[in-house]
Amino acid sequence: MDFNGDLSLKVDVHPLVKLLWESGVQYEAKVIESYQRDHSEKSFRAIDPEKPASEALAKETLKAMQDGIDIIYQGVLISGNKLGRPDLLLKTPGSSSLGAHHYYPMDIKLTRIDATWDDGNEKVPIEQFWQIYFYGELLEHVQGKRPEKGYIYKTKSRILPIPLYKAPKNYEWSVNQLENYLQGNAFGAEPTINSNCGLCDWKDSCRSWADEKQDISLVYYVGQAMKLGLNQLGIRSIEDLAAQDPDYLTRKVIELKNQGFFWNAMPADLPAKSVVRAKIHLSKKPVIHNPITFPDAEKEIHYDIEDDPTQDFVYLHGALLIEKGKEPKYYAFFAEHRDEERTITEHLFDFFNQHPDATVYHYSDYEKTTLKRLISKHQLDSTSYERLFGKNGTAIDLYKIVTENTDWPLTSYGVKAICKFLGFQWDASDAGGAASIVWMNEYLSGHTSMKEKILRYNEDDCRATSFLKNELIKMQNHTNDV
Ligand code: SF4
Repeated sequence: MDFNGDLSLKVDVHPLVKLLWESGVQYEAKVIESYQRDHSEKSFRAIDPEKPASEALAKETLKAMQDGIDIIYQGVLISGNKLGRPDLLLKTPGSSSLGAHHYYPMDIKLTRIDATWDDGNEKVPIEQFWQIYFYGELLEHVQGKRPEKGYIYKTKSRILPIPLYKAPKNYEWSVNQLENYLQGNAFGAEPTINSNCGLCDWKDSCRSWADEKQDISLVYYVGQAMKLGLNQLGIRSIEDLAAQDPDYLTRKVIELKNQGFFWNAMPADLPAKSVVRAKIHLSKKPVIHNPITFPDAEKEIHYDIEDDPTQDFVYLHGALLIEKGKEPKYYAFFAEHRDEERTITEHLFDFFNQHPDATVYHYSDYEKTTLKRLISKHQLDSTSYERLFGKNGTAIDLYKIVTENTDWPLTSYGVKAICKFLGFQWDASDAGGAASIVWMNEYLSGHTSMKEKILRYNEDDCRATSFLKNELIKMQNHTNDV
């Protein structure tokens, strides 16, 4: 987009993105310091990290490689019109055009705490595989030998190998797309509206484009792979999708899957569901597919968490207690410092225990998985967690109810998108999980007024969950009436 887009349509970089850049730079500096300390017997050369990549720095890098420097930091690799700058180039035995040694790449990535699958394997975004593989290709050109592996450094104990002999999924396709795009041919590189757009500088531009074209990526769950596959069938707009016969589309999708389109684990009923969602999108009216009921409890707790996953820090558990016949009351368990995470979580469990008869509501799996992680991190008693969020836990995940029983004329089924659609308003116009993380970082650096904003936003989130539950009941009653 930066090459071919209209730069006047770019919006300011989101403050959270800036924060992540800063954290990334700080993390990289820390890792390099400790890496040098741990390998103090090895030679080290930095290739002017402050300067932008250039031919001159590529020459300096080659010189360092020819000199046999053990660790090269921020080296520049150039091959034709391709340029890469791995954080580290590490020397290893094995002949190459440099002599009896060659280099392999390692990139340092700031670890997100949710970066592990339930089975313990690391989640590595496909772009990171592509990046390391790309460095492997550049190295093959520069040193006449492709290293067997490159690495992603997350932490000292989590250095992940990336094989460099087999191209990762969709790599060639992506490189071709990029080359086309850099030559001004944007065909096939059009926007796909997705969950990352909210933090992207091009969000307004891409959203206007998608709205104007009524692009299929505006339909819930139509991501990049789905869009590419549907485009193969000539389906580009929401109207095109809504006009499909669901059975015919399902058969066509299976045929295309055999040719490598879509993805292996794609649910078999997704094409038919997407046709329904496209129709709902055009009608602008949400639909309840199955009856929804909630327990008739005297007390309800609507619970929402605020955390900064890049810092592994949960700073707020918010809970709205609603008792029949009383005004709802908001409770905030807020960490004034990073070391209060354990205490606020204990207080939250105490609060749950004080209201054993309350039905607890939350939106999405995030609260559940985060609490589970906190229990293990701080060695907390899990009785209260098991009662509410365990296998037979009584807490109700409204997101599950929404996705299993309803459809909306919306791109996202997040609580904000749905509640805003239904008329709920957040107090702060810039409210959002990303904004809350930025506010918390400002609070920790001395801006005490931010605390009120954080609490207000979280209270609104809890109220939104309660609002949504009541709206679902109203919609259900209306459905029963007709
Ligand atoms: S589609 Fe989304 S993520 Fe991609 S450039 Fe546009 S706004 Fe950014």
